Amino acid sequence: MRVRISVLLTLVLLALPFANRAQTAPDWRTPAEASDYRATPDYAETLAYLERIAAAAPGKVRIEDFGKTGEGRILKIVIVSGDGVFDPAAIHASGRIILLVQNAIHAGEMDGKDSCLALLRDMVITKNQAALLDHAVFVFIPVYNIDGHERRSAFNRINQNGPEIAGWRANGTNLNLNRDYMKADAPETRAFLRMFHRWLPDFFVDDHVTDGMDYQYDVTFGIADTPDVAPATAAWIRDAVTPEIDRRLNASGHLSFPAFIYLVDDTDPAKGLSFDGGATPRLADGFVILENRPALLVELHMLKDYKTRVTGNYELLRALLEVLNRDAARLIALNHQADADAAKLGAPVAGQNPFPLAVDWGGQITQVAFKGYQFTRSTSEISGAIRIAYRHEPWNMTIPMQTGARVTLSVTPPAAYIIPPQWTGVIDVLSAHDVAFRRTTAPWTGKVERYHCSGMQWTASPFEGRHPIIAGDWGTLNAHFGQCALSQETVSFPSGSVVVPLNQRLSKVAIHWLEPEAPDSALRWGFFDTIFEQKEYGESYVLEKLAREMLDKDPALKSEFEHRLETDANFAANPRARLEFFYERSPWGRENRIGDYPVGRLLSLDGLPLN
Ligand SMILES: [Zn+2]
Repeated sequence: MRVRISVLLTLVLLALPFANRAQTAPDWRTPAEASDYRATPDYAETLAYLERIAAAAPGKVRIEDFGKTGEGRILKIVIVSGDGVFDPAAIHASGRIILLVQNAIHAGEMDGKDSCLALLRDMVITKNQAALLDHAVFVFIPVYNIDGHERRSAFNRINQNGPEIAGWRANGTNLNLNRDYMKADAPETRAFLRMFHRWLPDFFVDDHVTDGMDYQYDVTFGIADTPDVAPATAAWIRDAVTPEIDRRLNASGHLSFPAFIYLVDDTDPAKGLSFDGGATPRLADGFVILENRPALLVELHMLKDYKTRVTGNYELLRALLEVLNRDAARLIALNHQADADAAKLGAPVAGQNPFPLAVDWGGQITQVAFKGYQFTRSTSEISGAIRIAYRHEPWNMTIPMQTGARVTLSVTPPAAYIIPPQWTGVIDVLSAHDVAFRRTTAPWTGKVERYHCSGMQWTASPFEGRHPIIAGDWGTLNAHFGQCALSQETVSFPSGSVVVPLNQRLSKVAIHWLEPEAPDSALRWGFFDTIFEQKEYGESYVLEKLAREMLDKDPALKSEFEHRLETDANFAANPRARLEFFYERSPWGRENRIGDYPVGRLLSLDGLPLN
């Protein structure tokens, strides 16, 4: 009996720790993993998981607020630091790089959020990815477009294969935050800019899910290496980063393509892949180029299941962090150099290329091995046009791809810009971007270069809440533009005018905002629309008298008028236009100053009364 009891006791005692462990072992599966990738957590559930991890890994994880959305939700970043240092300046001084990952700017494309939760867990709880923090600090925005993220529906993403419920593309006022980086209309953008400058990350990632064609790849990505990226940084991206991430992703079991896949003809993949357009500053990655930092854009394939997408994004971030750990010192040096180069833009030296404002396809064709799907083309009785239908059988082909970028618009930067103080909206955007400027302390009259702009057309339909001089999302840059001609003039500027010197790190932001033809300039976004409005008019009987006087005095004008009558039937049939012809050419008409762009280009700061 004694023996039997002691044996029993021993058995019970031996079994106890196992029973205990089975009951209390913490479940560190992310909410998406726990649902077997049918669901993605809402914001409250996301924060609850993050706070649970932060509590379990004291000194490694900090969650910081960085502002509010339009609907009043609190924007947050998560900072993961191996040695518990959370001060950006101290981290920069330590020689570690800061990676900033943005998730859910298009809140129906929230995959990166669930990848980051898993990566965070594996860095600080399971610790199987802890080495990724050796030379890097991982900062991520779990959900950027929170108001869109909480507008949950099963019907938000028609093209996308799961999860069951997802968020909405735009923010609470239906603005696409990924068109707002330059003009900064949304409160989310304003908060982002403050946070970005507090942390000044060394590398930036923006996580998305595609729309577009069907193919075998589950991850596509691109890091802009266009002519506006510092040459040494572009070379590092091309030679050391892109191929390495591609190789590691494919080795992890995912199928990756290191570029964005846009078809030349949406109904015929055999015609090949088109140039991706380059990143303009309205976009996250285009904006980060102006900050002299590399930016990687992830596009997971919309038709792959949610587990494949989330784990693909995880593997991409892991591969990137491995490369950034390997190259931390090099990246820091490249960023230093890019900052220094940007601060020299205001002192152009002879022989230096002008600053590129826009790029397009350079005309090269590269044959690429492509893993598509078999497709059939037929005439649709519904649309009346060619329809394409994909079958999930491999179509492994070599197809042409448009490669190489060509600068289509460039400018020689001045030493500084001068903006009259009444253009407060324009100046406010520069402040939001942290661009440094000074103010004049007295009225100043002097020689500047100034643009005169004419022939502009504005979009009839709204685009991002405005009616800009921009042909839609990816339209031809100059479809609506007209022209701006530069000339030297003597101009008076009121006291308090803003002088923006270009010998600063953020010179590219100032150039893109203030050069009128730049793709996301203040002029294109409508901040200067009133300069195109006529505010004084001549009464017809007054203009009749003026016209007669002008015709008597000026034979050349008389023949110009007669020629116009003969060659322009619309003009000849429009009595008001015939009178306006004379008003526009008179000192009274010219006093409207239509199209005079108010911003001056200064060739030096000499003689300016500055604070
Ligand atoms: Zn997107």
